[in-house]
Amino acid sequence: MSSNDFLSLGISASVLKAVQQLGYEQPSPIQAQSIPVLLGGKNLLGTAQTGTGKTAAFALPLLSNIDDKQKTPQILVLTPTRELAIQVAEAFQSYAKHIKGFRVLPIYGGADIGGQLRGLKRGVQVVVGTPGRILDHLRRRSLNLSQIKGLVLDEADEMLRMGFIDDVETILAQTPDNCQRALFSATMPPAIKRVADTYLGDAEHIRIESKTKTVERIFQQYVTVKGHQKMDALTRVLEVESFDGMIIFVRTKSSTVDIADRLEARGFSSAALNGDLSQALRERTINKLKKGQVDIVVATDVAARGLDVERISHVINFDIPYDNESYVHRIGRTGRAGREGKAILFITPKETRLLRSIEKSTRQSIVPLTMPTNEEVSGQRIQQFTQQLSKTMATPRLDKFRDMIVTFAEENELDMADIAAALTYENQKDRPLFPKLDNIVAPRQEKRNSSSEKRSKRDQSPRDKSARPDSGEKRSRRDQSPRDKSARPDSGEKRSKRDPVLRDEDGHVVPMVTYRLEVGKNDNIDPSNIVGAIANEADISSQYIGQIVLHDDYSTVDLPEGMPDEVFKHLKNARVRAKTLNLSLLKAEGQSAPSSRAPRPKKGPKKIKSAASDNPSKRRNPKNDGSAPLKNKKKKTYTKKDKK
Ligand code: AMP
Repeated sequence: MSSNDFLSLGISASVLKAVQQLGYEQPSPIQAQSIPVLLGGKNLLGTAQTGTGKTAAFALPLLSNIDDKQKTPQILVLTPTRELAIQVAEAFQSYAKHIKGFRVLPIYGGADIGGQLRGLKRGVQVVVGTPGRILDHLRRRSLNLSQIKGLVLDEADEMLRMGFIDDVETILAQTPDNCQRALFSATMPPAIKRVADTYLGDAEHIRIESKTKTVERIFQQYVTVKGHQKMDALTRVLEVESFDGMIIFVRTKSSTVDIADRLEARGFSSAALNGDLSQALRERTINKLKKGQVDIVVATDVAARGLDVERISHVINFDIPYDNESYVHRIGRTGRAGREGKAILFITPKETRLLRSIEKSTRQSIVPLTMPTNEEVSGQRIQQFTQQLSKTMATPRLDKFRDMIVTFAEENELDMADIAAALTYENQKDRPLFPKLDNIVAPRQEKRNSSSEKRSKRDQSPRDKSARPDSGEKRSRRDQSPRDKSARPDSGEKRSKRDPVLRDEDGHVVPMVTYRLEVGKNDNIDPSNIVGAIANEADISSQYIGQIVLHDDYSTVDLPEGMPDEVFKHLKNARVRAKTLNLSLLKAEGQSAPSSRAPRPKKGPKKIKSAASDNPSKRRNPKNDGSAPLKNKKKKTYTKKDKK
């Protein structure tokens, strides 16, 4: 297959050109199935998770039908978080780069509404936003949905979990009856099914079936790294793994070349293998791998199809495959001819679900790989160095050099060991024998028990440690929020459960303070509404939102101390079910008097990060590696506006 497959799916010429330039070689399974349905004008219900290529599955067909003359919103995408909103908006921008005058606007809470108002006034074809802020604009009449032709609910189950489902329904009810709708969700709990039944009519249901396949003789490991750290992580793994031949799988043709070049520059013998290369060149590369003239081949799925080379001891999935079958296919390139093989999978924190799904379908556990330490890398380099040294000492042409050094030592009364040390020091500068490597953080990796973990990262928030059904399918709608499963009427209160002590990712205790919110049970809210509002409006990771207690006409919530004034003011005016939170400080540690402002942190503002600006383009990480902008930072409690 080639990128012509996108053409045969029927996407427009300008969108096709962008896809080709991005180096997409073939549609992922969810894309192959969804694109014709959406191009055909039908509604779509997709069971798909992050990493399957679902953004392009809806963006490419919807963009193919866009009217570039019309400047009022034609496509609306609802996402549960601001990060996803930015990511999806960026994806739209890249797929629409050849559509003249195209504009997409991400709209989310916690950002200055002025910029969003100006953006909407200027005219946009695509709006991607979180439900609360979209509703806000609808109330202000700054957003007009009357011309919407395509509506997408992305990560619908997350929106449910974050308490946004009522907001979503309110928005859905304001879109034209004849607008095309697509809903993507990793799971299909009853509340999502109900929304689908109500608003999607007889939608086409697409899911990527995961057939069970067994893989034998292949030891499988995974490592969790953030996108921008993948290359460093790969290099480190390669330094300590002893391998014969290796295939590294990536998603795009451009990545094959990029990574092969970077590995070469780091001293690994590597070559790229992709669908752009002629058949003759591909065969030559595979032959080189067979003969040991090249050790590492960096390939796309298409180019590596049918590749059978006995000496492949390792398969590295640098980019996670779109589905379980192709995972099995890929790792089957090793363990040939009765040999043992090893497969290492790189995942970003958001791809944890895909990892679990692979484990489930292969009925085998994939165990965490611990990042090699400085000492291990150092030990390996020293071993290689001394081996090379022994070889060099055996060469016959050393006489002249020996004489030179002896003369030098005698004239200067130097010790031979000192000279050898100095030469070694000079020699290792490009590849230090005692390196000080960056700390590659593998978020949550250490906490995961690969066979028993059944829940996603967000599910592991300190409030919901007690067991609850995996997908929430057996529970009522209200029960589905992560915080409220333990909420039981308790002397009139509804109380969410959490660990007494909340810790950050480094295991440090996060000091908390209690705030009062002027919304309560009488306002028909539940804890997930509060979590959703605070997480999005204050841009605080939901894991740092502590215990929530609902009273009749007010509630309390524990939040990390040190909330910046700006965030505090913003939260004060944030709304849940059309009621202002009117946040006030109830109680800080060692403090009893209520206060109207946010407490200052006791120690330095360690956890308070300066956040990216409202402008998504400024939020991209400088390495421009495609990873989500805020994801590159350490897990945060609060973020603030950029101090440019
Ligand atoms: P998503 O599941 O939409 O978050 O996409 C995951 C990643 O896969 C993104 O980085 C996309 O750019 C990439 N991607 C999506 N479709 C393709 C494709 N057909 N070929 C190569 N990469 C893709």
